Amino acid sequence: MAVPLYQTANFVFDGPQQVAEAMTTPGQFVYSGYSNPTNRALEEAMAELEGGVNALVTASGTGAINAVLHATLRHGDHVIAQKALYGGTVAVFNDLIERCNVAVTYIEGVDSAEVTAAIRPTTKLLYLETIANPIGHVPDLPALAAEARRHGVVTVVDNTFATPLLCRPIEHGADVVVHSATKYLGGHHDVVGGVAVFANDDLHLRAWQHAVKLGVIADPFAAWLIIRGLKTLPLRLSRQCSTAGLLAERMAAHPAVSAVHFPGLPSHPSHDRATKLLSGYGATFAMEIPFAQRFMGDLALILNAPSLGGTETIVMHPATTSHRHLDAEALQQAGVSQDMVRIAVGVEHPEDLWDDIDQALDRS
Ligand SMILES: *Cc1c(COP(=O)(O)O)cnc(C)c1O
Repeated sequence: MAVPLYQTANFVFDGPQQVAEAMTTPGQFVYSGYSNPTNRALEEAMAELEGGVNALVTASGTGAINAVLHATLRHGDHVIAQKALYGGTVAVFNDLIERCNVAVTYIEGVDSAEVTAAIRPTTKLLYLETIANPIGHVPDLPALAAEARRHGVVTVVDNTFATPLLCRPIEHGADVVVHSATKYLGGHHDVVGGVAVFANDDLHLRAWQHAVKLGVIADPFAAWLIIRGLKTLPLRLSRQCSTAGLLAERMAAHPAVSAVHFPGLPSHPSHDRATKLLSGYGATFAMEIPFAQRFMGDLALILNAPSLGGTETIVMHPATTSHRHLDAEALQQAGVSQDMVRIAVGVEHPEDLWDDIDQALDRS
């Protein structure tokens, strides 16, 4: 019933010839730094869920992103990326800009003409997020990916916040989907991992080769925990999304709250695109409130912690944590203010969560 955990680094063969043969035979398990049957089971599940041809399980979401960037970019290449991006991804791009002469053009991501205008002869990659952290920006994925494809540019989509249950980016023209499995896929705040899913085998092979060289292949126990998480993903996510919708509506109506950034609210700038593209609005959103840090300290049930996507609801202050690498201008570009609090909703009772938020808002 359950996928066995192959907690082994090494595999044993009858003789030296068999080891040498296995090393050059695709699909053979030789060393878990290359691949492992438990990882393989998760890769098959994720490829199926995302509608890709193959997948790669990595030691973290950042590991998946780096393996994909290594497989697609060379010195001097150009990237088009949406402005609202996970802070760690911006840090990776900044490093590539500095050390590898890579150029990055940031676009809003709402109109394919932005891609047309940004294209250069050296453009290799369009990089998007289905639902961007923390402001809930949703790009026009189908239009942007179609324009990239017309120019022979590979589209990579970070689908961490949507999961394949809310959006399958490959069906909308993406070539690669990346995930931080640390978040909703794992879902219990107990594992760090990543997944990349590919629409073609060539990209998969290249990303796997880079993942091996980077040393970011997942440990089998991590893959095993993520498989276990996947079994309850639909139950967790539907509860998390419906509670997030309820809390976002109540916060938007609360006089102490100056703004709520949830794509499920009709007032959100991405609401129409989100309604078309997604089968749910996600469960992580941001609000703005004066005395943000005091509010966060006054919460009792809701925990102060940096990561997200698990069973417990957590709050986080993006400007001083996930987006700390960004200067003032980049923070403004990402839409992150000092008043902003990010809430990642868990599976607790919605009224318990609201009671906690309400008491902390009253005290702030
Ligand atoms: C957390 C996160 C990452 C990085 O994943 P790790 O597993 O922490 O390395 C990448 N993208 C998004 C959208 C994330 O939320």
